[in-house]
Amino acid sequence: MRRIYFDNNATTPLLPRVFEAMRPCLLESFGNASSIHQRGQQARAAVEQAREQVAGLLSARASEIVFTSGGTEGDNLAVFGFLGILMQPGDHMISSTIEHHAVLNACKRLEQMGVAVSYVACGSDGVVRPEDVQAALRPETKLISVMMANNETGALQPVEAISDVARHAGVRFHTDAVQAAGKVPIEVERIGCDLLTLSAHKLHGPQGVGALFVRRGTHLRPLLLGGRHERGRRAGTENLAGIVGFGKAAELATEWLAGGGDQQIAGLRDRLERGICSTVETTRVNAGAAARVPNTSNIFFDGIEGEGFVIAMDLKGISVSTGAACSSGSTEPSHVLTAMGLSPEEARASIRFSLGKQNTAEEVDYVLAQIPEVVSKLRELSPSWAAKHLAGRR
Ligand code: PLP
Repeated sequence: MRRIYFDNNATTPLLPRVFEAMRPCLLESFGNASSIHQRGQQARAAVEQAREQVAGLLSARASEIVFTSGGTEGDNLAVFGFLGILMQPGDHMISSTIEHHAVLNACKRLEQMGVAVSYVACGSDGVVRPEDVQAALRPETKLISVMMANNETGALQPVEAISDVARHAGVRFHTDAVQAAGKVPIEVERIGCDLLTLSAHKLHGPQGVGALFVRRGTHLRPLLLGGRHERGRRAGTENLAGIVGFGKAAELATEWLAGGGDQQIAGLRDRLERGICSTVETTRVNAGAAARVPNTSNIFFDGIEGEGFVIAMDLKGISVSTGAACSSGSTEPSHVLTAMGLSPEEARASIRFSLGKQNTAEEVDYVLAQIPEVVSKLRELSPSWAAKHLAGRR
């Protein structure tokens, strides 16, 4: 059966050139980057080249890149890294209600450890306002963490303005850029952030590897204790093949952005949205009024049940999702959509379509051709839709 993958915010397929870059590290160039013999030196050179490539994606210095096991570890390192250095129990941190659970659950743990956390709400457009972050500041605030792009809606957050708020208050600023990297240009100097999280598998690199940008002169307490890897900032033998793949994916993403790839994917996303909204009644693009990353569309289909839609589409060979992959199977409605003011029913009736570099206009048209039938079948089964819409027509 034909398979179309529109769930690239969950994970992206590895690009063939990324796989080719990784292959030798899994076979002949398998050295430990800490070994002093030739194999070790080769591995070290490969890791350092990847560090340059990842830094290039952010216009950062290579020495500011700390490789991690992925976005979750990067976010955890950012949230806990100042604890015991700059931040003590009794201090305060600011985050937002729409963060990924890698930040939210780390913040919850921080609260249990005696650090107060304020979660700034977003507007109905899915965007956090810098003035609300400003208003949440306290004399004891030490860290602000607000994501760059939301994983469910794609809404871009005003991270430059929030970073200004932080800088004027003398507070450190972290941004989770996992869903922004490789989709929109990022310059850490322009943002002015102290810490920024990346994950390779969201930009056509391998799963299980990521990085934290740590601004020069910023001291963090490592989460993992062991050897002096990553200049004492993250212990553990480097994931050589993963890091090399990440480096290649970052280099390709930099080229893709420079070549206008983001415009092309936005064109596909807009074609999908226009097609859905013109052929299916009572639909709405969640966060449609916000500036968004070019690949993401989150659509509310009145009268459907999201999980049913995902399964029906899967039976047609199409992968989409109801939101964050790590929340699938949960009966809770999306915390992001409810934070925007959607009712739990509306949140459960919302679907995320997220495109990747491999998707084509022909795939968009194929998906568009399947949706009306899937939606009308689900609506026929929905008592609330029947009560609202069908009764009057009988
Ligand atoms: N932050 C955001 C915004 C994400 O979307 C994700 C993954 O979905 C993560 C963090 C976690 O990244 P990883 O899967 O690499 O641990």
